Amino acid sequence: MGIATINPATGATIKTFEPLSGESIEAKLALAQQVFEPYRRTTMSQRAQWLNQAAEILEKDKVSFGKLMTTEMGKTIKGAIAEVQKCALVCRYYAEHAAEFLADVPAATDASQSFVRYQPLGVILAVMPWNFPFWQVFRFAAPALMAGNVGLLKHASNVPQCALAIEEIIQQAGFPEGVFQTLLIGADQVAGIINDERVKAATLTGSEAAGASLAAAAGKQMKKTVLELGGSDPYIVLESADLEAAVATGVTARMLNNGQSCIAAKRFILLEGIADEFERRLVERFQNLKIGDPMEEEIDVGPLATPGILADLAQQVQACVDQGAKVLTGGKPLVNLPGNFYPPTILTDFPVGTPADTEEFFGPVALLFRVSNLDAAIELANNTPFGLGASAWTTDEEEKQRLINELEAGAVFINGLVKSDPRLPFGGIKRSGYGRELAIQGIQEFVNIKTVWIR
Ligand code: NAP
Repeated sequence: MGIATINPATGATIKTFEPLSGESIEAKLALAQQVFEPYRRTTMSQRAQWLNQAAEILEKDKVSFGKLMTTEMGKTIKGAIAEVQKCALVCRYYAEHAAEFLADVPAATDASQSFVRYQPLGVILAVMPWNFPFWQVFRFAAPALMAGNVGLLKHASNVPQCALAIEEIIQQAGFPEGVFQTLLIGADQVAGIINDERVKAATLTGSEAAGASLAAAAGKQMKKTVLELGGSDPYIVLESADLEAAVATGVTARMLNNGQSCIAAKRFILLEGIADEFERRLVERFQNLKIGDPMEEEIDVGPLATPGILADLAQQVQACVDQGAKVLTGGKPLVNLPGNFYPPTILTDFPVGTPADTEEFFGPVALLFRVSNLDAAIELANNTPFGLGASAWTTDEEEKQRLINELEAGAVFINGLVKSDPRLPFGGIKRSGYGRELAIQGIQEFVNIKTVWIR
């Protein structure tokens, strides 16, 4: 697949793009390098003004940006508009807090004065996925630009118009030309950019394979990377839980973004005492979800972003079924609809060794497991290559503390769904990646933490 807008709800190709030539890439790299020196000397308050202006533009045109996302990758229009608003929020958050996050930090030593100063690194490459085409980019760009860095975006090949719109928003907000540029390039052109000495660091949000490939290229050049990769988040429901709230939130946690979220609840781990009832209510709710054209306000579940994602998910489900797993609802692609539709699906009774043990299911498929006690729940939750988020439901204080301490994940949410919030760091452990985005930790990833010692 080349760089193109293909509507996942219809399969229609709307617009295609040629990847940038070597010459155009060179011109963009040169501009990025050239603008860095003057840009790093701009004041925090000036950058904050530009970023607040970006927030204004996002909010003013949230419907048209939302429609663009829905057209390119199929998320529901209500989800898309909410995503644009969240981008405005992260812009305002860093506009307000970057100066305090990057202020000098004094340290008492044998010097007459010593402190830590945070300084920008230079040109940072961001390789981004299609699933949250605006949010993923703004949560990188807002802190990176506030810190005085310059950004280059290689967005996923199926969301080129989102990528161009974001470049335009940042330009229109007043940032100097070249501070943030979109590169319409294929994945095979990424290593060349990383190898370029003008690029100082890189961040990638996406699959394990892409992350490993980027990190290997960057490692050869001793360049810092942040990786936000996949997840197979557990959603643990204990017997003391508020069951109705756990079921209702479980549906949202699994179905968000048509099931294509890294932090979606993917493995539901249920204590035996509540498992039958939870299962019954979850099936009922899944069967009541409205599937269809994501541009329509009342639709809950739209298509998957590409035919490839649909095929992968269908194959994973089929492999589980072939090995003996039971389908409670859904389980086959919706071939009577045009586009890449897969129905809300629930699988259970897995024998050992199915893809449910080790793989991420990137679509509207809930995997249900039953356990007899908290120890078994924690053991199963941790028995995965991933470590992104975890959600657990309990009203018992001791259980809460055990879950917080023992779950192997970058985030533990008790009695709520795992979500990103500008005020909290976001990232994973194990094969979900390393480094953090958002909050103070996010803005401190792409800076030189300079030690200053003065006699
Ligand atoms: P993907 O195929 O890895 O693509 C992500 C980005 O990486 C795209 O821009 C892609 O470009 C590029 N890419 C692919 N292979 C590459 C390579 N070998 N070298 C350099 N760049 C490469 O992932 P996806 O299917 O778009 O996204 C889904 C995955 O992202 C899921 O695993 C999901 O869990 C994860 N995700 C993680 C987070 C998080 O914060 N942890 C957030 C969202 C999504 P092309 O499009 O041109 O191939």
